[in-house]
Amino acid sequence: DPEKMEKIVSLCKGKGFIFQSGELYGGLNGCWDYGPLGAELKRNLKEYWWRKNVQERDDIVGMDGSILTHQAVLTASGHVGGFSDPMCDCKVCKKRYRADQLEEVPLCEAKKQLPKGEDKRCELTEPKEFNLMFETKMGASADDDDPNAVAYLRPETAQTIFVQYKNVLDSSRLKIPFGIAQIGKAFRNEINPRNFTFRSREFEQMEIEYFCHPDDGMKLTDEWLEKRLNFYEEIGVPREKLHILDVPDGERAHYSKKTYDIEYEFPFGIQELEGVAYRTDYDLGKHQECSGKSLEYFNPETKERFIPHVVEPSAGCDRTVLAVICEAYDEEDLTKEGGKPDIRKVMRLKPCIAPIKAAVLPLLKNKPELVAKAKEVKALLQPHMNIFYDETAAIGRRYRRQDEVGTPFCIAIDFETLGEEGPNGEDLSDTVTVRHRDSMEQERIAISELLPWLLARMV
Ligand code: ATP
Repeated sequence: DPEKMEKIVSLCKGKGFIFQSGELYGGLNGCWDYGPLGAELKRNLKEYWWRKNVQERDDIVGMDGSILTHQAVLTASGHVGGFSDPMCDCKVCKKRYRADQLEEVPLCEAKKQLPKGEDKRCELTEPKEFNLMFETKMGASADDDDPNAVAYLRPETAQTIFVQYKNVLDSSRLKIPFGIAQIGKAFRNEINPRNFTFRSREFEQMEIEYFCHPDDGMKLTDEWLEKRLNFYEEIGVPREKLHILDVPDGERAHYSKKTYDIEYEFPFGIQELEGVAYRTDYDLGKHQECSGKSLEYFNPETKERFIPHVVEPSAGCDRTVLAVICEAYDEEDLTKEGGKPDIRKVMRLKPCIAPIKAAVLPLLKNKPELVAKAKEVKALLQPHMNIFYDETAAIGRRYRRQDEVGTPFCIAIDFETLGEEGPNGEDLSDTVTVRHRDSMEQERIAISELLPWLLARMV
């Protein structure tokens, strides 16, 4: 559904979720900036992931590794030699393509004007391997050709975990099985960045390396798959929109005994959100071999000594944000019979990740008592969550603006709040109207109850 994708990209820009990086200068291909609402959404997602996978677990700890990576690390891991995609160029228009993703020979940019009947297709070179890593040089005095000055921007967060596994183990009291989690940037010089943020050159990963006994790897891979599917459900991506690809022999990375790709039905097709891979002892084994330092684990109870095996749930933060947005985006036809067309755009984001948790809205802006009370309510809530205050336009318009950016609750301060009698003569002083985004239903809640009421709905 390309039309839906266009609407989402335009809403993301118009409402301040996601902008093209360097747009002012024509844009930097494959790079994106998160605007005010996008930054909140992404941060909420990362915090939720961290809470579920680190804070609420006794067997997983976090780390935050450097992005610039020692070349020896990525040589040992196989990235320097083999982290590549097959690429081909058009000899005429010079455009580059990923050879393994071409379904047909593309139309040539330079041959567009050719008369009918003539071949307008690209003339492609034979595919050659193109390494996806960004290379850089370190140190002010490094001579230009000094091979030792080469460093890389990490292409995955995983390797920084493997090379610190021993330090984490020695500095903590963890016993196998245990995990190390990390959220951070990774960089890949993708040949064809595309589908909005889905395939970028700079992106963020949320990864766990779960270290275990070799006998438990297969079983833990299945368990992690289940846990990760539940996670997506919790953040608003339902199970029926996810597809599990049990990657067959021959298509998995050579070191992996089992890999599940968790895929989502994006508007541009079913595509990978996360990989859950059983990486065996490949990475630690390689780093032990190349560094010459023991990375074995010793179990004092069984006296067993072994290189731990690893199960890795590796999720893309940007892809998850995109999936969440695609899933939340909805248009509701509220046109009344004989009335003007009325389409309500609404983002049905889960409150736990919504960028704005509640909007505080005085009914009218030219009544100082309403405004003062509204500001009081805002001050009460603001230390605890992201609150938006809005006093412009009619209240109905303000509700709709919040619907469009996924704010789950709107809090209206009206004359009843100030003590005026309710429609049935009831005393509603110091209560507010809370309007629910999804159902548009309204209820009255005492200001004194408001904070716990909201907090209970944010988990
Ligand atoms: P793909 O096949 O789509 O290139 P991959 O299998 O190479 O992805 P992994 O190496 O398994 O991806 O990386 C783990 C996760 O990191 C992916 O599931 C995805 O969510 C995220 N990711 C990888 N490459 C990109 C990218 N170029 N842009 C955004 N996210 C990415």
